Amino acid sequence: MSYQRILLKLSGEALMGNGDSAIDPEIMQRVAADLQQLVARGVQVGLVIGGGNIFRGAGLVQSGINRVTGDHMGMLATVMNALAMHDFLRRLQVPSRVYSSFDMQQVCEPYQRDAAVRFLETGGVALFSAGTGSPFFTTDTAAALRAVEIGADLLIKATRVDGVYDDDPLKNPQAKRYERLDYDRVVRENLGVMDLTAILLCRDHGMPLRVMDINEAGALLSLVEGEEVGTLVHAGEKDR
Ligand code: UDP
Repeated sequence: MSYQRILLKLSGEALMGNGDSAIDPEIMQRVAADLQQLVARGVQVGLVIGGGNIFRGAGLVQSGINRVTGDHMGMLATVMNALAMHDFLRRLQVPSRVYSSFDMQQVCEPYQRDAAVRFLETGGVALFSAGTGSPFFTTDTAAALRAVEIGADLLIKATRVDGVYDDDPLKNPQAKRYERLDYDRVVRENLGVMDLTAILLCRDHGMPLRVMDINEAGALLSLVEGEEVGTLVHAGEKDR
């Protein structure tokens, strides 16, 4: 395995599939099976799940809900998704723990970095929920933060697109996929890989990022085995 410890970021939307419900059990089952394979090969896996399949603060503002309240609702949505993933992992007998960035101890454990790292070292999957615990951030930023905190070798952003393109590949069939990019270029060209807070955190701490399609069978395992899957975003020599 090319990476010993990874932080996987799954967008909430990636859990929806093409159906109408917030969570597509087939996708959950497949992701859980992928994680099972990684853990069986000795890879330590941290997971941040988004909440966009249920609520996003910015979207709730359109319905007249206060932004901070909406962001709290969005963070609670990420806890729901993490609990669901915890359950799918349990069915496969993969040990996992749900950590939350704010207190809800009857439901999941409060996030504590050292405890989470110790759990990763035992081969358990650490599910980091409730984002950063603060409004006005995203789960991409939470993923970048947790990746840096736990000393991950790689941050993987798993979405419904197989990398970073110079244009929207769904609208423009000529759009070109980048193999590699550095963070400075992502910022300069406003490539929209993640929000700027997440990008700059990764850049400043030399955290490499791979953007990949979660629906591509076997892609996650290939990536962790060292294959060039999706797009690599790296910090560049001067930041290392
Ligand atoms: N959120 C927040 N602070 C965080 C992370 C998330 O307030 O640190 C809220 C925010 O409203 C966001 C929602 O939770 O829209 C769901 O997260 P996100 O949009 O990142 O989910 P994804 O797009 O990955 O599904």
